[in-house]
Amino acid sequence: AQVRAAQAERMQALGQLAGGIAHDFNNVLQAVQGGAALIERRPGDAAGVRRLARMMLDATGRGVTVTRRLLSFARRDELRAEPVEPSPLLAGLCEVLAHTLGAEIACRHEVAPGTPPLLADKGQLETVLVNLASNARDAMPQGGTLTISAEEAVLEGGSGPAGLLPGRYVRITARDTGTGMDPATVARLGEPFFTTKPRGAGTGLGLSMAKGFAEQSGGALTVESAPGKGTVVSLWLPPAPRTAEAPPPDADPAAAGAE
Ligand code: ADP
Repeated sequence: AQVRAAQAERMQALGQLAGGIAHDFNNVLQAVQGGAALIERRPGDAAGVRRLARMMLDATGRGVTVTRRLLSFARRDELRAEPVEPSPLLAGLCEVLAHTLGAEIACRHEVAPGTPPLLADKGQLETVLVNLASNARDAMPQGGTLTISAEEAVLEGGSGPAGLLPGRYVRITARDTGTGMDPATVARLGEPFFTTKPRGAGTGLGLSMAKGFAEQSGGALTVESAPGKGTVVSLWLPPAPRTAEAPPPDADPAAAGAE
C-alpha cells in the first residue's frame, strides 16, 4: 500500500509538473507568436521591431530556464553518488556565494566536529545548495546572514522527518535571517511550480528539485520557517560507507575528484 501511495503521489506531482510546463510554454509561445505577427505586419518600424525582439528574447529566456531545470529534474535517475567531505564543500560554496550574494549578505559555514563524509552526487548537491542560497538571498532584501552547516544526525525510530528510515545521516542545513514563511506557504513547498515570486523571477522548481534530489539520494528535505524568524532548510543525506581500511593514497576520492 505504501508503494501504491508513493506511486499515486508521484503521478500527481507529474500531472502538476506537466500542467505547469504546458502553462509556462504557452506563455512563451504566445509571446513569440504575438511578436512575430506584429513584426510581419510592420517590418519597416525599426524601433518597434527591436522592442518586440527584446520581448521575444525575454520570453524565450524564461523558456530556457524552465527547460534547463526540467532537464536536471529528469536526470534524477543518473545521480552519481560519491563520498563528499562536508568541510571543503561548504567552504568552497561560501567562497563562490560571496561573489553572487552581494555585499549585504554574509555567508558562514560550520561543520560539527566528527561529521562523516556523505554519499551523494556532488555536482547536483552543489546545484541544490546554490538554489537554496539564492532563495535565502531573495528572502533577505535588506541583507542578513546565510549559514550553511553540516552535522551528523542519528535518527531513532519515529524521531526524524516523515518517511525517513532510522539511522545515521549527514544533515546539511541552510539557515537564513530572512522574511520566513507562513505555514500555508511551507505546506506547499516541494510542489513543482509553486512560487510566490513575480513572473520571470521565480520558476518554483528550486525546492521541488532539492526535495527530489534528497529523496533520490536516500534522504529527505525538511523546512522550518516562521514569518519574521527566518528559514532553515535541511538536507538529510546518507553518510558514505565507512571503509574497512584506509585507501591507498592514489585511490583517495578527494584527490581523484578534485576539479
Ligand atoms: P522559486 O524560488 O523559483 O520561487 P522555490 O521552489 O525555490 O522556487 O521556492 C518556492 C517558494 O518558497 C518561493 O517562491 C518562496 O515563496 C518560498 N521560499 C523558498 N525558500 C525560502 C526562504 N529561504 N525564505 C523565504 N521563503 C522561501
